[in-house]
Amino acid sequence: MPLLVMKFGGTSVADLERIENAANKVMREVERGYDVIVIVSAMSGKTNELVGWVNQTSPFYDAREYDAVVSSGENVTAGLMALRLQEMGIPARSWQGWQVPIQTTSQHSAARFVDIPRANIDAKFAEGMKVAVVAGFQGVSPENRITTLGRGGSDTTAVAFAAAFGAERCDIYTDVDGIYTTDPRITSKARKLERISFEEMLELASLGAKVLQTRSVELAMRYNVRLRVLSSFDETDETSGTLVCGEDEIMESKVVSGVAYSRDEAKITLVTVEDRPGIAAAIFGPLADAGVNVDMIVQNISEKDYEDHVGAVTDMTFSCPVDQVERARRAIEGARDAKAIVYDDLVVDTDVAKVSVVGIGMRSHAGVASRMFKALADENINIKVIGTSEIKISVLVDRKYMELAVQTLHDAFALEKAD
Ligand code: ADP
Ligand code: ASP
Ligand code: MG
Repeated sequence: MPLLVMKFGGTSVADLERIENAANKVMREVERGYDVIVIVSAMSGKTNELVGWVNQTSPFYDAREYDAVVSSGENVTAGLMALRLQEMGIPARSWQGWQVPIQTTSQHSAARFVDIPRANIDAKFAEGMKVAVVAGFQGVSPENRITTLGRGGSDTTAVAFAAAFGAERCDIYTDVDGIYTTDPRITSKARKLERISFEEMLELASLGAKVLQTRSVELAMRYNVRLRVLSSFDETDETSGTLVCGEDEIMESKVVSGVAYSRDEAKITLVTVEDRPGIAAAIFGPLADAGVNVDMIVQNISEKDYEDHVGAVTDMTFSCPVDQVERARRAIEGARDAKAIVYDDLVVDTDVAKVSVVGIGMRSHAGVASRMFKALADENINIKVIGTSEIKISVLVDRKYMELAVQTLHDAFALEKAD
């Protein structure tokens, strides 16, 4: 039997009516002759609520118990989806991660797949089951504890199942009808893309475009999964939505193909740290140990004999998610108390956002950075930190300018036009 993976995100299973709507889409594929693996998210808002409960109970929580709690939203929707399909006369069964079992590493709240053995699900398909409904976002560690894959992780569950079961396609049903040049909620000029390359989608996702979890794109690229994003609310067929595919299948040739943003960033500066071999390791080692996801890093030119320091000093700035600021502060102050680092001041700015432009065309075209900086300057938006890679340029700006920055860059690179 040909097999499809269909994933439904939180808004697509937000209530019983929407679960029925999603089940109708599954039924249509079964009627076309497919066996289907359905991956479900928790009802929208549910995971946030569960995370809130954990934080209220235990601010520096045990990650194993965090996973035990936050994985539970998906269990509810998996069971309900299986029941709805059964009511429609379709042989369906639900599976929680441990039942498959979806084997992951033991990095709680950021676990990675180790293996997805097919035997249990294949055996049920062989007995006549048409749809396996699998709870997304979760797995089980070698220590037999429940793990989760990081926020948005059901996308990655879907792609991993598509790879493991050799699915014809992995369809990600969501609340937008495809992948756009930027988040359509930020500008109505955002344009839906027919196709986007794995590389560009990988950058957009890792820079904040949450339409797909970064890891899902990585896996799709590695295992060559045909990955599509489409609407769970519109009528859809094989041509709907946006296909994420290899660069060789792309017709568009724009230098910049998308703008991404990440709203909740923080910028932390260690003022006048000693400038000596090993200082970066002394700062970022404890941050890594504390589980802080450091993103951009800037070390400025060093000065000699500044104030009460003897020898060279420098300022070290980095960014991280705003909800990790207290963790970061504790790690740095801990290193200072342990006399591993010396600095004059720790300056924390929790009101920044990151805005990035992405395009594989940047590899061969100069001038993207200057055009970006000019456009932001024309709107009087101050750039606080700049970071670049082969196919992206990112800037940190005050959060209040984030929307304006996205709209300005979308205009500056004429992304509303196809070519
Ligand atoms: P789901 O719950 O289905 O997983 P998400 O909220 O995780 O859905 O992802 C879909 C959302 O991603 C959209 O509602 C949209 O606001 C946002 N988004 C951000 N960037 C983009 C983009 N470039 N194209 C489409 N959607 C985007
Ligand atoms: N429910 C999880 C989250 O909100 C996983 C997902 O929806 O992909 O992050
Ligand atoms: Mg999502």
